[in-house]
Amino acid sequence: MKKTIFKNIKICSLLLILLCFISCGSDDGSSNDNTVDIDTNVDDDTDTDDDTTVNTSISISSALTGSLYIDSQYTNLLLPTQINLAPGTHLLSLGVEGDDEGYYRKEITVEEGVGQDVVFTVDDLAAPRTWRALWINYTTGQAPNGCQTQVSDDFVEIAFNNFMQGIESIERNAFRSVEWDVERLNMTTNAPVVSNTPSSGLPNDWTINVQQAGGVIDDLENNLGMDLSEYDLISIYWPSWPSDPQSNPCNYVTSYGGLAREIRRNDHAIGIVEVPYLEVAGNRFHPDPYTYIHEWIHTIERFYPNHDIILPVAGDGTTAHVNPVFFGFNDVIGLYSAVIRGNVPPIDGSIDFLGTGPEGLWAFNLEDLSRTTSSAAPTVIID
Ligand SMILES: [Zn+2]
Repeated sequence: MKKTIFKNIKICSLLLILLCFISCGSDDGSSNDNTVDIDTNVDDDTDTDDDTTVNTSISISSALTGSLYIDSQYTNLLLPTQINLAPGTHLLSLGVEGDDEGYYRKEITVEEGVGQDVVFTVDDLAAPRTWRALWINYTTGQAPNGCQTQVSDDFVEIAFNNFMQGIESIERNAFRSVEWDVERLNMTTNAPVVSNTPSSGLPNDWTINVQQAGGVIDDLENNLGMDLSEYDLISIYWPSWPSDPQSNPCNYVTSYGGLAREIRRNDHAIGIVEVPYLEVAGNRFHPDPYTYIHEWIHTIERFYPNHDIILPVAGDGTTAHVNPVFFGFNDVIGLYSAVIRGNVPPIDGSIDFLGTGPEGLWAFNLEDLSRTTSSAAPTVIID
């Protein structure tokens, strides 16, 4: 058995997931009608040490209509527009929806006092960055007391379709700067017998065995001989335990809607998310598209600051748990969309919008984000 390192686990409460179920009934919520003015004199500190430097006027136009980003930063400007840039190299990029949907990018070099007319064309379309996902389902499980659980093939399809909807919304909100390559694996064995998640403090907080001997990772690497280092995300679905002992006497309850953790292979992180099928008091809960996004955000959120990309952060240090209302959004759907678009409004007087933006997801998949970057000390977070 290969020894695995338990690095990080984040637990998301059923309450949060229930809120997500409710909110997911509303519109996509990706629109963001903030009208925050920004300083279009985009300064790059590495280029402007000389106080006498004069920013230079650049006009940007295109037959394409879209959102302009300068040096990965959302600008709240539409084309055509006029901006002032400091001398040096700058990345201009454009997120386009509709017929010409895509992420367009080009670098320009600005010389002091030399104006330019920059025109975006279809030739500036960037090929999407691939993020690789493995979606695994177990249709049967076995609680520690031997109690068997099962989820129907129909429900497995619901879960998989919701996963695909979730990642498709990531692609759409990123203007297709990313493209998920998804593999699906149906495990015909019982889900590995569970263990009590150690730090939750909840007596019935049981989950599938992922990292210990005989767990899912062991199953994949040692029984199936898979190379997990190829993946940015591994998503695991299995039937959890009914909370109603009258209908099923398992007496093991999963009290959350999803978990996210990380394993390391070849010196980089792989995000592992567990999103079970749940029955609570006779009600069935399928993984929601935004539950999957929530857990995926947990797998990436702490790496972006290492690459000078700032995400909104909640009091517990996570991005997935940010209160959307605090940033002017009605729900997490709108907030997560804005995180991906990089247009979460700035706060505290900053001019910088927050989020990965399309460039952050294009420049770094999780492997790149996390390579040679050690993550925080192992922590357990309970929503
Ligand atoms: Zn969470």
